[in-house]
Amino acid sequence: MSVIDNLNEIRKSINSSSSNANIIVVSKNFSLNSIQPLIDVGHIHFGENRVQEAIEKWSSILLTKVNLQLHLVGKLQTNKVKDALKIFSFIHSLDREKLAIDLKKEEDRSGKTIKYFIQINFDKQLHKSGIDITEADDFIDYCRNQLNLNIIGLMCLPPLEFNPDLYFKQLANLAKKKSLNQLSMGMSADYQVAVRAGATYVRVGSAIFGERV
Ligand SMILES: *Cc1c(COP(=O)(O)O)cnc(C)c1O
Repeated sequence: MSVIDNLNEIRKSINSSSSNANIIVVSKNFSLNSIQPLIDVGHIHFGENRVQEAIEKWSSILLTKVNLQLHLVGKLQTNKVKDALKIFSFIHSLDREKLAIDLKKEEDRSGKTIKYFIQINFDKQLHKSGIDITEADDFIDYCRNQLNLNIIGLMCLPPLEFNPDLYFKQLANLAKKKSLNQLSMGMSADYQVAVRAGATYVRVGSAIFGERV
């Protein structure tokens, strides 16, 4: 199966759940050679988890493929904010006040604004990333109302050893309560579950490229 066949299969599977969720092809650790066929057929959404890797891989492509949208799905260090804003159209890992403030400052300085998902942490014992669920309500309000960041939705990474459905549904409920329309959830192993729970963006890597080395 080619990467294009794999992407088409995932598209079919999503559509069979009567969903139109966007597929973010997570290309971290894969070279442009592996990714190129998907760019050539016009795929738009690609995800990376490290700013430096994204810049090295994508900078020159973005000059010619102006429709491409890059998504940062991994943790963002504040010293990488400036570079991140240069290359990404979406950040899925907004998870703390200091980062939000720095992103706002850089948006104001550069004049560029992008879209954000706030990453929710449902279990501090199991995860380092994400704003704790108990603080999520206030943090969402803060980012939107005080900082005026363009928060479009919520993101989560469910703990691997648990049924992801419960986490996806909780995320969907919180988004609804906060009137946020976009849900970034579901990876290769669980995107169908996520789609049934209302995902609007799934983040899929290994189901397209095979296992990462
Ligand atoms: C790597 C990664 C993915 C894709 O994972 P696969 O299991 O390869 O589909 C999705 N989301 C995040 C945050 C990731 O780091």
